[in-house]
Amino acid sequence: MILLGPPGAGKGTQAQRLIETRGMVQLSTGDMLRAAVKAGTPVGCEARAIMERGELVPDSIVSGLIDEALAKTPCATGIIFDGYPRTLAQAESLDALLTAHGRHLDRVIELAVDEDALVDRITGRFSCARCGAGYHDRNKRPRVEGVCDVCGSTEFRRRPDDTEETVRTRMAEYRAKTAPILPVYEARGLVARVDGMAPIEEVEREIAALLPA
Ligand code: ADP
Ligand code: ADP
Ligand code: ZN
Repeated sequence: MILLGPPGAGKGTQAQRLIETRGMVQLSTGDMLRAAVKAGTPVGCEARAIMERGELVPDSIVSGLIDEALAKTPCATGIIFDGYPRTLAQAESLDALLTAHGRHLDRVIELAVDEDALVDRITGRFSCARCGAGYHDRNKRPRVEGVCDVCGSTEFRRRPDDTEETVRTRMAEYRAKTAPILPVYEARGLVARVDGMAPIEEVEREIAALLPA
């Protein structure tokens, strides 16, 4: 399945829930790119400045990352694509990659959100430095202040691109390049729309109701 929605819509948060409840895996091109930047690979070096500006990295780079990840994912494991595809060209590549890896798309879930709320969600976002669990300054604080719910780490981090200015660029990129993917999947009867403004647990329930038992 694909989780589609603008930055801050809750894709990563919901992917994390699906991993826990359904044993699916999350393929997040954002996470893969951040890992590449951290490791200083050629892909990371090319992507770094682009990501800092909030623009999209070239389609060929992300499709290559997804191809590698698909090759490593057991065929019986369900996949959540998070933050990919983000352009029409990427959506076309995904079709070809899925076929090549003997897979098919079951669902595209659109997390519909109010743009004004996104800046607040993104500037309040932080995550565990050790396990990556996601949090928010107001909406999702750790149960014990300063301690990760999942792994107990006391170190957290914020993304360098989670600033108000960069968020505006990322939202413009979403509107111009990613939103146009929706009609393509709608024509194939794959899209279900979920209210991403509802509380995290409610969004989780709505998504669960859309997936096979
Ligand atoms: P968010 O979760 O806020 O939507 P991501 O972590 O998915 O952000 O992406 C962070 C940045 O990584 C994007 O702003 C973009 O520069 C780059 N990126 C991630 N996925 C893609 C993609 N599929 N195509 C192009 N660029 C991408
Ligand atoms: P995305 O992966 O789509 O960019 P995230 O899942 O990282 O978005 O969510 C962005 C921020 O908003 C996080 O800090 C997260 O804790 C918070 N958040 C996610 N879903 C909700 C929700 N339904 N209501 C309120 N806050 C949310
Ligand atoms: Zn943790």
